[in-house]
Amino acid sequence: MTDCGLFGVWGPPNAADLAYLGLYAQQHRGQESAGMATLQQDKLIYHKGMGLVADVFSRDTLNRLKSRSAVGHVRYSTSGSSNLSNAQPIVVETSSGMMAIAHNGNLVNSTAVRHELETQARFSPIFHTTTDTEIILYLVARGTNIMKGIQQAAARIRGAYSLVFLTPRELVAVRDPRGFRPLVLGRLGSHTAVASETCAFDLSGIRYERDIEPGEILHIDDSGVRSEHMTQQAQPAFCMFEHVYFARPDSVVNGDLVHAVRRQLGRRLAQEHPVEADVVTPIPDSGMSAALGFAEASGIPFDLCFIRNHYVGRTFIQPQQDDRDAKVEIKLAVIPQLVKGKRVVVVDDSIIRGTTSLSRIKMLRRSGAKEVHLRVSCPPTRFPCYYGIDFPDPSRLIADGRTVEEIRQKLGVDSLGYLSLKGMLETMSHPQSHYCTACWTGTYVVPPVDEMKKDRLEQAAPKVQSRGSRTGERTNG
Ligand code: SF4
Repeated sequence: MTDCGLFGVWGPPNAADLAYLGLYAQQHRGQESAGMATLQQDKLIYHKGMGLVADVFSRDTLNRLKSRSAVGHVRYSTSGSSNLSNAQPIVVETSSGMMAIAHNGNLVNSTAVRHELETQARFSPIFHTTTDTEIILYLVARGTNIMKGIQQAAARIRGAYSLVFLTPRELVAVRDPRGFRPLVLGRLGSHTAVASETCAFDLSGIRYERDIEPGEILHIDDSGVRSEHMTQQAQPAFCMFEHVYFARPDSVVNGDLVHAVRRQLGRRLAQEHPVEADVVTPIPDSGMSAALGFAEASGIPFDLCFIRNHYVGRTFIQPQQDDRDAKVEIKLAVIPQLVKGKRVVVVDDSIIRGTTSLSRIKMLRRSGAKEVHLRVSCPPTRFPCYYGIDFPDPSRLIADGRTVEEIRQKLGVDSLGYLSLKGMLETMSHPQSHYCTACWTGTYVVPPVDEMKKDRLEQAAPKVQSRGSRTGERTNG
């Protein structure tokens, strides 16, 4: 369904508070909606709403959700429209009791599976949301127990899925056989937590223990943690874009500190695309670590020429183009004293549409920069992602059908250098073949059989609105 943030915890008396903090720390992964389900006796209660975590949960809400176990979710949409009915966790009653599911990723065959399930159902339509998460939920619920259900679902679905389930008996964490999206395990004394990123643990003093392995299923309950593996095995395809842009720099993803990886990418970028200049500056915030590495390797002084307004969301994942364009201009300011008459190297982590880059370059020129040299710590992004990152239609990618020289001209910079694919992968700690690089190469390790599925899902889905309310809540199971 989406690239999102997940959090789950089993054991401590303040599980709802821990989930709140875990979601709060992962809002860079999704700002459209937030939700949480907790266990009270053998019932799951939940609260979800549109917007940021602090807007969705009040102190009273967290008190009502008080529990020893919780699952939470922050979302932005790549499949399913942005409304409350698609917010997660999704909570259902199954033949073996209540179940909540939170999903990070995107299935590439959800249209086919959805159609199959609807054809089989006696009463159609069976789906209440337009997300592929609900498809996983139905497949899992058809198993005689959750383990069998997950194994059956894994045999049918294709694509990216990190999942956290909460039932009255256990918390279950699942990572797909390729491990596209991150999922980590942490400890708080004798209690256990899982999250998309380790930054979700830090506010609560939860200790990062390890990454959940591709194809691993973790069962967590009062007796501890039990690990099993899916029968399907595959070569890992860790999302390289998590390391380049998406994850928070203080997170450990696939065993590597994101900041350290980005710094190395910047160092390599300086070696591949040297330039004579007076100052190196990042595009805040995600270009920060790479710019630091570029400055170290090049010997050019580092400075913060852009100042960010922290009260504006990340432009890249806003769902409406109009919102995005408006926010670009108010997001950053240049300090003219640092750039006037100077040769400036601007380091960014990636260029998607080019809208934000163009705007920032113009700002530097207006502030008197003598030369502007743009350096990008990944290759040109030319292809869509079918595994959960919200890239636009390829025709809207600035690199689509353009050479690097044509991109340079369009952006109006004096020079432009992208890190090579080889250079990017050689900085990583896992074998190069263990990373997904499809948005740069167009080589998809799991073929996108449903590439038109978003349109079809939207057309097929009943139009469910949030009925004027921005929150949904169920307190009696
Ligand atoms: S296509 Fe790109 S963004 Fe999508 S999973 Fe692969 S590396 Fe990540």
